[in-house]
Amino acid sequence: MSLPPHAMTTRRTTRLPPQTGTALVVPRGGMLKIIDPIGEQVSDVTAFSQDDHREWLSSGRTIDYANTIYVTAGHTLYSNRSRPMWTILEDTVGRHDFLLTPCSPETFTIIYKTSAHHPSCFSNLVTALAPFGIAPDAIPTTLNVFMNVEVRASGELAILPPRSRAGDYVVLRAEMDLIVGLTACSAELSNNGTFKPIDFEVWMPDAPSLTHAHDGREADASA
Ligand SMILES: [Zn+2]
Repeated sequence: MSLPPHAMTTRRTTRLPPQTGTALVVPRGGMLKIIDPIGEQVSDVTAFSQDDHREWLSSGRTIDYANTIYVTAGHTLYSNRSRPMWTILEDTVGRHDFLLTPCSPETFTIIYKTSAHHPSCFSNLVTALAPFGIAPDAIPTTLNVFMNVEVRASGELAILPPRSRAGDYVVLRAEMDLIVGLTACSAELSNNGTFKPIDFEVWMPDAPSLTHAHDGREADASA
């Protein structure tokens, strides 16, 4: 086992297949680790207060208070009501995007000029969040973990290959009870042309201790 010191307990690693998404509850104090298992793969993340879905993860508030567009370890991620939603505890990459919306069907018609069906983070988030009663129009600008967007002096944006390599990760601590949506991003440009999986783990401080702490598979899953 090679769990970090704050990993009081853990769940087995869950793998999101390429171009998919999911949603889950992360209680206050719980920690979400998002891992790029292969490298150069983006994961779009959003969150809503479990108590009131009208409170959501706000790019604008976060950038305002952090005074940077590049959030990393030590930064607080705020809601539209200016309350802390997440704290970034660890970040092995240091480059993520919080400016751009999740890729959507329209992203592929407007930017990629394709008329064929194309999987998208937005559609995957809509599907995953629907059982929680969250409507499509409520989905805000996502924290695009591992996405590498640079702003030129002119203001023009450049979407570059992610800087993440195999095994890179971020750890977020929930500062309130959260409904979380996350994806393995579907946009060619954001992921250097190929679609890879995303792994994640949730650590629950109040969960019972590991049942199979010496199980080899468990060790692999949390390495
Ligand atoms: Zn995407």
